[in-house]
Amino acid sequence: MEHIANITTGLDIAQIRKDFPILQQQVHGKPLVYFDNGATTQKPQVVIDAEARYYEEYNSNVHRGVHHLSQVATDAYEKARHIVAGYINAAHSHEIIFTKGTTDGINLVANTMSRRFLKAGDSVIISSMEHHSNIVPWQIACEEAGATLKVIPITEKGELRMDVYESMLDDTVKMVAVTYVSNTLGTVNPVQDIIALAHARNIPVLIDAAQAIQHISIDVQALQPDFLVFSGHKIYGPTGTGVLYGTTEWLNKLPPYQGGGDMIKTVTFAKTIYNELPYKFEAGTPNIAGSIALGTAIEYLQQIGLPEIQQREEALMAYAMQELRKIDGIRFIGDAKNRSGVISFLVHNIHPFDMGELLDQQGIAVRTGHHCTEPLMDLFQVPGTVRASLTFYNTKEEIDKLVAGVKRAASMLL
Ligand code: PMP
Repeated sequence: MEHIANITTGLDIAQIRKDFPILQQQVHGKPLVYFDNGATTQKPQVVIDAEARYYEEYNSNVHRGVHHLSQVATDAYEKARHIVAGYINAAHSHEIIFTKGTTDGINLVANTMSRRFLKAGDSVIISSMEHHSNIVPWQIACEEAGATLKVIPITEKGELRMDVYESMLDDTVKMVAVTYVSNTLGTVNPVQDIIALAHARNIPVLIDAAQAIQHISIDVQALQPDFLVFSGHKIYGPTGTGVLYGTTEWLNKLPPYQGGGDMIKTVTFAKTIYNELPYKFEAGTPNIAGSIALGTAIEYLQQIGLPEIQQREEALMAYAMQELRKIDGIRFIGDAKNRSGVISFLVHNIHPFDMGELLDQQGIAVRTGHHCTEPLMDLFQVPGTVRASLTFYNTKEEIDKLVAGVKRAASMLL
């Protein structure tokens, strides 16, 4: 148990860290200090084992064979879908579509939505703090339909201008797509209000939960997004996995995204009858092992307990902010009241890459650059930031190392 005055929770962090083999290694002769969890999280052994076990014991295609292995694989794959549905409290497991990740899920919605529901003169609303993956698919969709992309502005602290958002909601708006948590600023957006305001005008809402799903408890029946997307690799699962949640109503209204095997009921050269949900949106052989292991990752998280994780992460964030604030010349990019997981900063005029390299030499992994949010960097007029992103397996000692590392790097670079 980690006994730290303000970071003590019921969690046995020393024991939990042993679940993650990668955390035991050294980088440049120093113990790895991993603060790039926003980019991807590390995987517990149970997730690695679940993926290996599929290949070792029941590798087979799903939904196709009557033979034993195919049944076992199909059952495991569909069990994973149930686990995801339970985790976000979806009303039906057919509302869970397995994807390659957040980017894939947004492209699916932007493509199918625009083909059927966007026309010239319409508009789509996103925000200034979106990841490129929640900008570019909508730009493509708008360009093809002759629609306009509108952007909710933010304050200097990195909070959405909700007053402006409200005034943007007119009859041309056919879709609102916003991030729950900013991967660059850490801002937690008031998604409940965003959804309620759009729904008052019958406008559907997509929530990018890539940076929320691993930190914040999400109940889609309470929150009522029309679509919600996330990536498996950011919630301790494998890369190349992800989830699109959509309401039955919307998923039935949308046309298929990709054509191919599994997404059909019957095919003739004259006409194809599409399969029911969720298979209508899962063309081809999916990432079977990955999705099964994503289910295991969520079970692992549930065993530890999301409330306990949340409590610990909040304490770590508060401690990190408190200590980083003491560094001479530090400037935070984004200082929202409600934030989660992510701290972006610059020190004096030191280039983020230089800072990142010197931290790496000390075994500390942080992200540097624009974090796939170039328009946001333009807004703040910075070339990029140093981003430390935390999760529950990080420790107070690691934060101390980060702070000392930043100070040391600054003293060498200034
Ligand atoms: N949205 C946000 C907020 C993200 O942080 C990320 C990943 N950095 C993405 C979308 C894209 O996720 P992926 O690359 O896993 O598709």
